[in-house]
Amino acid sequence: MKIIVVGTGYVGLVTGACLSDVGAEVVCIDIDQQKIRNLQAGILPIYEPGLEEIVHRNAQKGRLSFGTDIASGIREADAIFIAVGTPEGEDGSADLKYVIAVAEQIGEHLEDYAVIVTKSTVPVGSSVKVKEAISASMARHGRQVPFDVASNPEFLKEGAAINDFMSPDRIVIGVESDRAAKVMEQIYKPFLLNGFRIIFMDIPSAEMTKYAANAMLATRISFMNDIANLCEILGADINQVRSGIGSDPRIGNKFLYAGIGYGGSCFPKDVKALMRTGEQHGHPLKMLEIVEEINEKQKLVLFRKLCRILGTDLTGKRIAVWGLSFKPQTDDMREAPSIETIHALVRAGAEVRAYDPVAMKEAGRHIDQPVTYTEDEYTALEDADALMLLTEWREFRLPDWERVKALMRRPLILDGRNIYNAKELEAQGFVYQCIGVGNQG
Ligand code: NAD
Repeated sequence: MKIIVVGTGYVGLVTGACLSDVGAEVVCIDIDQQKIRNLQAGILPIYEPGLEEIVHRNAQKGRLSFGTDIASGIREADAIFIAVGTPEGEDGSADLKYVIAVAEQIGEHLEDYAVIVTKSTVPVGSSVKVKEAISASMARHGRQVPFDVASNPEFLKEGAAINDFMSPDRIVIGVESDRAAKVMEQIYKPFLLNGFRIIFMDIPSAEMTKYAANAMLATRISFMNDIANLCEILGADINQVRSGIGSDPRIGNKFLYAGIGYGGSCFPKDVKALMRTGEQHGHPLKMLEIVEEINEKQKLVLFRKLCRILGTDLTGKRIAVWGLSFKPQTDDMREAPSIETIHALVRAGAEVRAYDPVAMKEAGRHIDQPVTYTEDEYTALEDADALMLLTEWREFRLPDWERVKALMRRPLILDGRNIYNAKELEAQGFVYQCIGVGNQG
């Protein structure tokens, strides 16, 4: 099986690496020449646990290679995966320009039948646009080659991407021909050994499934955050409420954590894009408007707590921040709540000292305020007036509290992910606040 993957970001690189790991011959293409030079030299553009080892192993075996020219290897390709970015356009809709650019290139170079698989998250109807762009490009170049389009949305979670790809809960594939379905089944058969299901459907439904899944997950987060904020007012504890409702199998116990709002490269833009699709078709999705509104407010919930304790003028105050990436096990800073929190802190006059195990370099590209990045979590605490825990990295879970207290100017902990034990910390003399727990501080 010969496969081309276009776009070597979180999705494309994981897809290419994992497909090569089960024996396919994969060429990963990107327009970013530096990224490709680095990959050819074994340097990965992203942090994703386990990925580097798979990339190195398969590159060594000659099954995984990298290039900038889609034309190379296209002759033998059975399938071409489009995994380029679909960023938020000016009006909130998904910007398809990168996807269409790839489709045009495919049209220019395709020589033999292949399935063109859209893996990028794209609105319903995009596969039709991809098909049209390929056909139009073929016509411009005086060629006519048979092909099929397919939609294969990706559900991997950054930080657990390899496992999600290798042992997925499900694989959703939208097709419009049996020939395409056969190719797709063959590609994913090695992963079927684990007993998971491929769910074949029509293309519009596959495209919609991805948006509906992310919108549902974002809704759960905003719902829990909304209830958490009410718990605080009423003297209830969202952690206990979570156990109470999560034990109902109709609700389930996953994805019910209160916190400082969702971020990342997917939920914010996908929720917006789905809202925009609804508007464009005369069916505004009112619920998602609220989901988004709650999330925007929630991103600064910890900052507001801090201001209630230290005042709104933070001049002369030093704040330690633990965790910057939008979630643990990734260096992805896109839409991370830490960005807005740190901007608010600096605007209020605070000095920020931050530590993240992997995302500090990436953070520098997203946070245009003066921040001191420290070599470890304890250095960030020196003379701090408060510690804000923003990302629940495993290594922050069991700190040496005596050392923490000795380093800080003021023993104030604001836990944005509810990972610490209030009683334990209060017994050690800390003032502790988290999300959604009443009667604190
Ligand atoms: P990314 O920004 O990390 O990577 C996209 C890559 O595409 C970049 O390296 C860019 O240089 C390359 N590219 C752009 N135009 C190109 C072209 N014409 N030819 C070749 N390469 C080109 O993006 P990502 O996070 O991997 O996301 C890709 C898509 O997958 C998006 O639609 C996203 O919504 C979706 N998705 C992402 C995740 C995730 O967790 N990151 C999960 C599921 C789905």
